[in-house]
Parts: sequence; structure tokens; C-alpha cells
Amino acid sequence: MEFRLIDRIRELTGQPRDDVKLGIGDDGAVLAMPAGRELVMAIDTMVEGTHFLPGTAAADLGWKSLAVNLSDLAAMGAEPAWAMLALTLPRADADFVEGFAEGFAQLAGRYRLALVGGDTTGGPLCLSVAVHGFVPPGQALTRTGARIGDEVMVTGTLGDAVAGLFALRDPPLDDAHRAALRQSLVDRLTRPEPRVAAGIALRGLATACVDISDGLLADLGHICEGSRVGAELEASQLPRSAALRELHGDDESLQLALGGGDNYELCFTVPPERVAQVQSTLAGIGCPMTRIARIVDGAGVHVRAADGSPQAITMKGWEHFA
Ligand code: ADP
Ligand code: MG
Repeated sequence: MEFRLIDRIRELTGQPRDDVKLGIGDDGAVLAMPAGRELVMAIDTMVEGTHFLPGTAAADLGWKSLAVNLSDLAAMGAEPAWAMLALTLPRADADFVEGFAEGFAQLAGRYRLALVGGDTTGGPLCLSVAVHGFVPPGQALTRTGARIGDEVMVTGTLGDAVAGLFALRDPPLDDAHRAALRQSLVDRLTRPEPRVAAGIALRGLATACVDISDGLLADLGHICEGSRVGAELEASQLPRSAALRELHGDDESLQLALGGGDNYELCFTVPPERVAQVQSTLAGIGCPMTRIARIVDGAGVHVRAADGSPQAITMKGWEHFA
């Protein structure tokens, strides 16, 4: 039974890549590293009831379990190449595997990423994906390179995914317009778009970079800690979608943007003299970017309201479902 499922996964996720010498089917995968590249690896696990709601569509889980990993590669400035998948399933559910592999393949196909192996076992539903990508030597983006005076930028909009999670818990809306806005937020939760092209474009330009998985405050906090600096953030500057503002208002959308996780935008630092170049580079690949903060001497992220007074924070970090 298990082998039929694995065959199906192989059929659905096969990507022709010359560097895959031996993929799914043997005891291990054999992969050829491109000359003059460093290997970047990341792994992320999603557990039912902790990272996603029971009953989430299999295709959405396939997409997202890869997306969150591609987002880690993006934050490192790496070009995706290979993945491995550890599936833990309560039962040998062919429909689930089919849907999962389809969602996974939809995203993998965009990056010519090949699934080269994995493991399939029985147990509580749990999806673990590992990804491998390449960077030119010494060019990986890290959390440790931010310097005092750097500008802090963020791609896209913040807070949508956590609002999507709340929307799934709340009773449905009658108003068709508001229901459509809500759906756009739910889509951000279930089908995040990793900023792979932006991460690659930021090589040699950004001094530090993270992806926003735990929430802006937590993740910008990681840059501050890693780089031994502080950040002054102006809350009113935070980019928020029209849907988030309309459904949650100015104050609440601000809190969601500061604390909401599962967002998968990139937050990065740039020396002031390079901001214009970064702006045009990201504009060239259609990636929106907003300046949100400045790196300062000190520690931690200090959030100010538009009038300069300290901004109250009511939501901190990612809240798990359970
Ligand atoms: P072994 O017992 O040698 O570890 P398995 O029977 O677990 O091998 O797996 C057989 C082949 O199928 C291996 O190449 C493995 O990488 C692959 N495989 C198993 N499960 C998955 C999965 N969920 N996704 C992708 N490949 C898988
Ligand atoms: Mg074996």
C-alpha cells in the first residue's frame, strides 16, 4: 500500500533536472552539486492542530508545507533545487496523498524543484519538508549583518495570514463584499507565496534578511539579536492590505501587522546609499517593498506611533491554534 502511494507521489512531483542522478526509489538520493555553489538547507514541520486546522484541504497543505520552506531559502537568498518529504499519516489515504502531491507539485513546478526522496509512516498527521538550494560562495543572506544606520524594509503586506486564521474560526459573513475580502485573507494563510525571486535579487544588496514566519516584531527581533543592534520602527508605516484595513480597522490591523505570524514576507536591512538600487531591483521583479524602520545602536525593536510616542503592543508573536 505504502509503495503505491510513494509511486503516486513520484509521478506527481517529478521534475526533470540533470543534477538528480538518483531520485525517489533507492535507499538514498544522489545529487550533483553545481560547481562553485554553496548548499543551503532548511526544514520545517507542520503538525495538525498546531500549525494547521484539522480538515484543511490536502492540496493546501501540500502547497504550504513547501511554501514555508521555500520562504526560508528565500530569506537566505538561495535558489531552490531539491526537497525531501516526511509524511506521517493516520491511515494510508490515497485521496489525501493525491491532493497533497498536487498542491506540492503546483508550487514545486514554478521553481523546477525536484522532490528527491522522503519517508512515509503511520501516526498523527504531520508533514515535514526539507529543502536544498544554492548560493554563490559567501553570498547567503543571514540575520547577523545589519549595521547601525541601515534602513529596514519589508516586502508585501503584513497581518493578512493571521486575520485569515481568525476568519476561519469566526461565523461566516452574509455580506458578499466582506466575505470576498475575508477570502483573500484566508488565501494568504493557506497559499502563501514565498518571495524566492526577491531573496535572490537581494544577494549582495541586503546586509541581513529573515522571512516573517513568527511575526514582524519577533523576526525583526531576530535580526537585532543576531546583529547586536536595535531597531526603531514607526508603526503607521507598516504596509497593510486594503482587505485587512477594511475588515479590522486601523488600530487592530496595526497590531495584526506587528504580531501576526505565518506571513512569509521578507524583512531585510539595507545601507541608506543602496536603498534606491534595491527599490528599482525589486520593482523590476514586481515585488512591493516598504521602508518600516531604521537600525540603531542598542537592542530590541522599539515601536513608535506617528506622533513619536511609544506604541502599545497588544499582540505578541505567533499564536498557535491549539
Ligand atoms: P527505506 O526503507 O530504504 O528507507 P522507503 O521504503 O522508506 O525506503 O522509501 C522508498 C523510496 O521512496 C525512497 O527512495 C524514499 O526516499 C522514497 N519515499 C518514501 N516516502 C516518500 C515520500 N513521502 N515522499 C517522497 N519520497 C518518498
Ligand atoms: Mg533502505
